[in-house]
Amino acid sequence: MTPEQLLQESDLCVKCGLCLPHCPTYRIRQDEGDSPRGRIALIQGVLSGQLVSTPQLHAHLNRCLGCRACERACPSAVKYSKLIDGIRAVSTQQGDSIERWVRKIALKLVSKPQLLAIGMGLLQYLPLHHLQKIRGRKLQRLIGFGLNIHRSIVWQATYPPIGEKVGRVALFLGCISQFSDQAALLSAIRVLNCLGWEVVIPPKQSCCGALYQHAGDPVAADKFQAQNKMAFGDLPVAAILTIASGCGAHIKEYENFPVASYDVSDFLNQQPWPAQVRLKPLPQQVIVHDACSLRTADTVYQLLGQIPEVELTSLPENSLCCGAGGINLVTEPQMADALLAAKLARLQTSKATILLTSNTSCALHFAAGIRKAGLNIEVLHPIQLLERQLLDNDHPTG
Ligand code: SF4
Ligand code: SF4
Repeated sequence: MTPEQLLQESDLCVKCGLCLPHCPTYRIRQDEGDSPRGRIALIQGVLSGQLVSTPQLHAHLNRCLGCRACERACPSAVKYSKLIDGIRAVSTQQGDSIERWVRKIALKLVSKPQLLAIGMGLLQYLPLHHLQKIRGRKLQRLIGFGLNIHRSIVWQATYPPIGEKVGRVALFLGCISQFSDQAALLSAIRVLNCLGWEVVIPPKQSCCGALYQHAGDPVAADKFQAQNKMAFGDLPVAAILTIASGCGAHIKEYENFPVASYDVSDFLNQQPWPAQVRLKPLPQQVIVHDACSLRTADTVYQLLGQIPEVELTSLPENSLCCGAGGINLVTEPQMADALLAAKLARLQTSKATILLTSNTSCALHFAAGIRKAGLNIEVLHPIQLLERQLLDNDHPTG
């Protein structure tokens, strides 16, 4: 969007404030500048030249998690996400310079886990007492994030179906999830193979570009989009499947993408379940955290509800972001921790021993918080639980 288009879009906001109770950053800070209405007013002020761009103003804009809860609540259908992405794109050179560099480095490292893995390797040569001196919360968060990065595995180009073939799908690996969520990707392959789907993994696929788009770098985001169009565009597949809902939501917004893309749970929910593929009963409570980027009806509940005896429960206040949106997990650790604390308090009073979430950054954020709080709760992607409950089928090799 051009600055003029952004200004036009922001003028659609009638300042009714109906979005405020839905905004997680407003809930924590109780500051109009950290609400959707306040941020829209700041955007209008900057674009119309009535407000000077200051580090404080950018701090309000940067704290937005991009959860889009305000969009869902807005009766005037203001496209808030376009506004916040747009203002970040036209003002990337403004705001506090140290903060800008922190965000740039975090973006590079988070979206290129290979770099983070090299950094983590070098950190191992630092004596422990030096590591313990690292006080900065953002750096600590980045290191914590890096500890979840596993060695890359060699993906096969094709994973054949077990039994009669019903079709072929392509799997999107994701820049972070192929290192931090390999178990979920392998589970997706196994479940799909068991249901008769051949799974192909195009080697030239890249990051989806979402992190760059939301951090104000649409040029880089467009390059990733073009690369993925090349990698997936001509494939004779029924669908492209994603396991990280943040990537999935962004790929769905690609312009003129020739193949339909689905979150793996959404896709499986639409497929007939063959009678010979049986699921083991799971007589326990499983709690579901709905990622902001996957709010499609009751997809996960319907899919996992096929497991006999399972008691699926929604985490209370599920419509409120857990704080891990975008790169905020690293760049806004205080906000991320405050939002997670309320969720952990709810988990503490539940009987659940498994928490499900479909987004990579939510999973990392919850897992770290649960570990720190000493709770006995395992964090899984829904597809991992489904795979675990499969009876009598062969594993594909990873
Ligand atoms: S609900 Fe929509 S119109 Fe009302 S203040 Fe929020 S963004 Fe503006
Ligand atoms: S996207 Fe989320 S954090 Fe940002 S203003 Fe809207 S509700 Fe608040």
